[in-house]
Amino acid sequence: MFDMKYPNRLRLVADALAQSETLVLTCHVRPDGDAIGSMLGLGEALEASGKRVFYFCEDRPGQNLLFLPGTDKLEHTPPEPFPAGASLVVLDCSEAQRIGEHGERLVEQAERLIVMDHHLGQDMCRDYPKSAPDPDTRCVQYINPDIFATGAICFAVIDELGWNISPDMATNFYAAILTDTGSFVHSNTTSLAFEMAARLVEYGADPYEISDRLFERVPFRKLALLSLSLRTLSLEIEGRLAMLHITPSMLEEAGAQVQDSDDFVRYARCIDGVEVSAFIKEPEPGKVSVSMRSRSWCNVAAVAKALGGGGHFHAAGFRQPGSAAEWREQLVEILTPLFREHDAEVSHSA
Ligand code: 5GP
Ligand code: MN
Repeated sequence: MFDMKYPNRLRLVADALAQSETLVLTCHVRPDGDAIGSMLGLGEALEASGKRVFYFCEDRPGQNLLFLPGTDKLEHTPPEPFPAGASLVVLDCSEAQRIGEHGERLVEQAERLIVMDHHLGQDMCRDYPKSAPDPDTRCVQYINPDIFATGAICFAVIDELGWNISPDMATNFYAAILTDTGSFVHSNTTSLAFEMAARLVEYGADPYEISDRLFERVPFRKLALLSLSLRTLSLEIEGRLAMLHITPSMLEEAGAQVQDSDDFVRYARCIDGVEVSAFIKEPEPGKVSVSMRSRSWCNVAAVAKALGGGGHFHAAGFRQPGSAAEWREQLVEILTPLFREHDAEVSHSA
């Protein structure tokens, strides 16, 4: 068994899964490798123990995730009617709205709610369901922002249950962990990440193949878009904030899709001296989706949360109306006082 924080909560989640006959698995909109890997890996384990499983994710996964075993089972409209007595399993997010348009309705319809997540999200059980006779088991959640991937929580739960891990499940969980640790380089990468990865390789995950499929088969248009976006890269706040963006006209010029730019923030993040990096996507005129990263002290989740988004301490995002140009200015305005506060604290303690 793995050394996981909050073992009692993990056990409650494991029991709730084992007791459920029918389950609807879901994750956040615009799913990444962790969201999809968690859903498919956990779903296969549940199916193998004789349960009826539905897989609902509002958005389609990106092309690079389609090799994951089981993606053909994903539905993009919720099961209608909601299966009687089913548990809703919310993965890689802990806010009904992050599931998408149908999120709140699904949460209300479920007989039981099971949440597994690693974001600084919300307590979904707090007011679920208001009329539950036994709220302790009607809603269980394992939320641990210190853990690198939701796929790792799913793996630990299955391990806790003593269920078998197939090569396909191992592939999904490995992809989840690889995605959310940035291939074992992000600050969330712990010895547990390597311990789990080693076990998953023993169970049949192929590290070369998974990394190749996830990251090394990009379409040319992605690099065409990157070359346009890199021209917008600039430094602010004494070289400690880096920003870049894309606009609808760049998408058109490159013949690219907005998903092609998902990891562009890394080109701002990697610059020496940069504490906060931001990538501003304007997929259609007047609407932005912003990815932020920080290197050490800046809690970008708090910044994102104040703007209606969320995420982790070092990686967060939000969506807002406005143009990329407007948000470049906005971000400088919002972040400058945080840098000043930090500078004051540092000089005070020096
Ligand atoms: P990314 O910048 O890669 O899209 O997201 C970084 C992190 O922030 C991810 O963990 C993601 O779940 C979270 N995040 C991004 N956008 C939003 C948002 O609009 N709302 C919330 N709650 N989280 C977000
Ligand atoms: Mn995740």
